[in-house]
Amino acid sequence: MNQNNKTFYITSPLYYVNDVPHVGSAYTTIACDTIARYKRLRGFDVCFLTGTDEHGQKIAKSAKQENKSPQEHCDFISNKFKELWELLNIQYDKFSRTTSKIHEKIVHEFFNRVYKKGDIYEADYEGLYCEGCEDFKSEKDLTDDNLCPIHKQKVQEYKEKNYFFALSKYEKKLVEHFEKNPDFIQPSYRKNEVLGWVKEGLKDFPISRQSVSWGIPVPNENKQTIYVWFDALLGYLSGLLSELDSPTIDSTIKRYWPCSVHIIGKDILRFHAVYWPCMLMSADLPLPQKVFGHGFLTKDGEKMGKTTGNIIDPYELIKEFGTDAVRFFFLREIGFGKDGDYSRANFINRINSDLANNLGNLLNRTLNLANKNYNGIIKCPGNTNFLGLKDSTISTIEAYEKHMDKLELKEALDVLWQLIDSTNKAFSDKAPWKLIKNNELDDAQSCLYETLIILGNISILINPFIPETSIKIYSQLGFNKPDMYNEWEKLGWKDKEECFKLSEAKPVFPRLDIKP
Ligand SMILES: [Zn+2]
Repeated sequence: MNQNNKTFYITSPLYYVNDVPHVGSAYTTIACDTIARYKRLRGFDVCFLTGTDEHGQKIAKSAKQENKSPQEHCDFISNKFKELWELLNIQYDKFSRTTSKIHEKIVHEFFNRVYKKGDIYEADYEGLYCEGCEDFKSEKDLTDDNLCPIHKQKVQEYKEKNYFFALSKYEKKLVEHFEKNPDFIQPSYRKNEVLGWVKEGLKDFPISRQSVSWGIPVPNENKQTIYVWFDALLGYLSGLLSELDSPTIDSTIKRYWPCSVHIIGKDILRFHAVYWPCMLMSADLPLPQKVFGHGFLTKDGEKMGKTTGNIIDPYELIKEFGTDAVRFFFLREIGFGKDGDYSRANFINRINSDLANNLGNLLNRTLNLANKNYNGIIKCPGNTNFLGLKDSTISTIEAYEKHMDKLELKEALDVLWQLIDSTNKAFSDKAPWKLIKNNELDDAQSCLYETLIILGNISILINPFIPETSIKIYSQLGFNKPDMYNEWEKLGWKDKEECFKLSEAKPVFPRLDIKP
């Protein structure tokens, strides 16, 4: 690692373990992994935390249906997430589980802190609750038939004595925080939605349940457990600790807190952009720097759902197309933040046109010509801008950096593929195979040398997105296995370098000859 000790802490949501992971969770986690890898490339001390949220009524129910204990059920599903992350080449640093002992200790300490602050009190609660959302609903949230609009199921009438969190006390401070930190909620178009909720007035909400046994007990109480969301959000702190640490809140915030960015789906924006900052203010802890709510995926233009059978199975997708193809498609196709669509035809077209043709063929043509005519050794030429792409290569790196820093992942890929397109075009125009035939060997070598410089840059810049492919290209170019903490410095138009000693050309992305 380089000396740079700037930290970068990124989290995915802690995924709810009521069911095996679906493609939406895969999408979020791929995006987080890409951002984390980019920051490592920039020399940051990165911590990428993912994990599972394991308490609540719904979990206990799912476990019962499978004749398992809730803990057995949680262990099983939590492992399924880990398996999928391995298949997707997700390089996380921490896996937070809300059924861990450390987590329970942190939740208790947090509860006591907030209690001492005077922000937790007992009161009767009467209201409506959707088990699917694990969230309270007011009458106006419901459909005309009194159903939860998301789950289309009946909400429960709910009345019991609970502990409440004094959310309303923080309304003004939260608005001030939004004003002082205009980038706190991203993308910016999500901000109005959150401001709308706050303007309606923040209400204190119950943070304990008498009726839910599968949860963390309220400290010094034997009748109630802590509300699953109040517990789960703290997984972003507790997950930073390992078994060896002394689990205190102060030890969690030493190195990586405050979080640089929480990446979430837009459906859980309220918990992260309203409840969570207020909870942290109450506990006198620093707030995360950014909450980024991305959009939803559809399949063939339709909402996905288990009941309709319209789903994408992430395991099947990886099995058929491979890890990098899956990672690439979603980030290339969908503006990060916006809703986006998957279809099999688009998927296949995207992989064939971008990876097999534009990138794969450029590499293959260059290496084949170089290996056949120059024994794989391409020397630094006299003419340093034969293809005329020096400036656009440099400006592409700058544009990529700007987009990545703003989490505009698709736009970052767009500029890379524009450069790949212009390189293909310049390569075809200069036609080095013709130059070789006419014995204009210096010009032919310039053409190959400069294409290799561009491919070298591309192989580093695509690394956060498609790490396996990046390393394949990198090694075909004759470089050693990269150390991603130091590669950023190798970018640029390095035309004074020693020669390229190329390896054998192997297709990095074979064309998919399957019918959509
Ligand atoms: Zn619901």
